[in-house]
Amino acid sequence: MQTLAFLTKHDKAPLVADCLADIGFAVKTVDSFDTDRLGTFSREVARTGSAHETALTKARLAAQLAGTRYGLGSEGSFGRDPYLRMLPWDSELLCWWDAEQGYAVYASQGGSDTNYAQRWVTSLEDARAFASKAGFPEHALIIGQSGDGVFCKGLRDPAQFEQIVLAILHTQDRVWLETDMRAHLNPSRQALIKRAANQLAMRLAINCPACQAAGYSVQQLQPGLACLDCAHPTAQTLSELWLCGACGHAETRYRTGFAEPGHCPQCNP
Ligand SMILES: [Zn+2]
Ligand SMILES: [Zn+2]
Repeated sequence: MQTLAFLTKHDKAPLVADCLADIGFAVKTVDSFDTDRLGTFSREVARTGSAHETALTKARLAAQLAGTRYGLGSEGSFGRDPYLRMLPWDSELLCWWDAEQGYAVYASQGGSDTNYAQRWVTSLEDARAFASKAGFPEHALIIGQSGDGVFCKGLRDPAQFEQIVLAILHTQDRVWLETDMRAHLNPSRQALIKRAANQLAMRLAINCPACQAAGYSVQQLQPGLACLDCAHPTAQTLSELWLCGACGHAETRYRTGFAEPGHCPQCNP
């Protein structure tokens, strides 16, 4: 087994350990660095850089701090779905780093199965409704914002939650509530991180045909598969770009066959 150092403050190692063990990596948690210094979800520290940059920074730090060849970093981002921008969306990214060969392999999974939400409430009933929709108390909540008189993170006790909400409503007419998105307090995130780890394991299991490095994978999908009836290009995938991060070997693989006319903008506008 190769040691894979995982930089995480919020104990994500059990989520990724099994499937990475299947391909020969023993995941070792590195918690000597406070990842909150790279930004927090609840905005006490602003996040800078893209999710890819942050995940890579964490993976490199992990290898460096543990003195291992391999490092792993993770980064979650939350917002609206990429299609209609209507549903809350969680995107989980993992970055595997080989310090010896100096290249990274990424895996990511996104889904609308997240409780990501925040809003003002003006009554205990409102607060209870927010909590129940957020999957509380299995999922933790945050009351208040950084800089407020009351700012409680990681709340999982219903009695304590109601007590704090009532205390704030005693002195002001509204309370800020949000879901706590830290992985160890958010089972929905944990499920997505597991899926991302599966994808990472599948990618690392494929070796580059030119240099044998792990993580030969599809980097880009090109649409344009021809329609079965009229040969018009569709949004279906025509080709995949495979790329090796270690040696740069690239290859375009074309799909065979045709797209169903149901996907054709000409036949089925
Ligand atoms: Zn067609
Ligand atoms: Zn290669």
